[in-house]
Amino acid sequence: MEVDCEGCAGCCVDWRALADVPEHERRGPQQPLDDTYNLVPLTREDVRGFLEAELGDALTPRLWEAEAGPSVEVDGRDVAAVAGKPAFFVGLRKPPKPVAPFDADPHWLPACAFLDPETLQCRVHDSDVYPEECAEYPGHNLALGVDTECERVERHVGGDRLLDGDPPGDLSGLLFGPQAVGEKVFAYPDPDDLADGVLDRLVDGSLTDEDRARFVAVAAASAPGTTAVEPTKREQYFETALDADSWVGAAVREWASRAASDDPDPALGESVEADRGAPSTPGWDAGED
Ligand code: SF4
Ligand code: SF4
Repeated sequence: MEVDCEGCAGCCVDWRALADVPEHERRGPQQPLDDTYNLVPLTREDVRGFLEAELGDALTPRLWEAEAGPSVEVDGRDVAAVAGKPAFFVGLRKPPKPVAPFDADPHWLPACAFLDPETLQCRVHDSDVYPEECAEYPGHNLALGVDTECERVERHVGGDRLLDGDPPGDLSGLLFGPQAVGEKVFAYPDPDDLADGVLDRLVDGSLTDEDRARFVAVAAASAPGTTAVEPTKREQYFETALDADSWVGAAVREWASRAASDDPDPALGESVEADRGAPSTPGWDAGED
C-alpha cells in the first residue's frame, strides 16, 4: 500500500461540496444517525488514550438507524443493537474548518478536529493518540476489496492518490463481526437512559459535553468480546471525559462561530488551534506523508 497524501486530506475532510459527490462512504451495513462523513472509528484503547491525554472533548459517538439486523427502540427510534443494547462507535469531532484541499479555493468544510487546516496534515500523526484506523487507512478497505477515499478523490478530483493498492500484511483486526464488540463497536448498557432526547441531539448536531461523555465512558470501560461494562471505571471515565477542557474543545467552539461569519482562511489555524496548544505539523517539505 502506498498513498500520496500531499494536499489531499480526503479521508479527514468532508470534501464532497468541492466535487459534488453525493454518496457517503459507508463503513458498515447501517445508516448513521449523524451526517458526519468518514467518521474515524476508534478502538477502546484509542479512546482510553485520548482520555489519558485529557483530550476527551475531541470525541463523539455514532449510532445507526436499524435497517436490518438486531435493533432496539430508544425514544421512538429503532437503532442498531448488540444483545438488545444500542450499538455505537466513538469517533473524532469534525467542526467546520477553513481548508483548501486539492488546490481548491479555501472553503469552510467539516474537518477532523486534529487536521491542521493550513498544511492539511494531522496534528497527532505518529503520536501516542494517533488512531489505529488512521495509521492503517486505507488498508482495511483494500483488504475488504471496497472503494477507498483515495480512489474516490482520484475519480472526482483527479490526480494519483492510491499508488499501490496491495493491502498491508500486518493489519489489525477488521471492523465488523463479533470480534469488534468491545473493541470498536460498543453497547450502551442502559437504553432507557437515552430516552432524554440525546438521539435527536445527535441527529441535529447539538450533542452536549455530557451527552458525549456518557458514550465515551461506556466505550472506555468496555471489555473485548463482550457487552459488559465495568461500573467503577465507567464512572471514572465519565468524570475524566466531562472534565476535559483541551485546545480541541475550545477550537471546535470558535470554528463554529467563525464559520458563520468569517471568510475561510486556512491561516486561522494558528490563532484558533496552535495558540491554544495544538501540536504543529512539519509541512510537506519535511517529507512526511
Ligand atoms: S491519499 Fe488517501 S489516505 Fe491520503 S489523505 Fe488522500 S484520501 Fe487520505
Ligand atoms: S486523526 Fe489525523 S489522520 Fe485521523 S482523521 Fe484526524 S486528521 Fe485525519
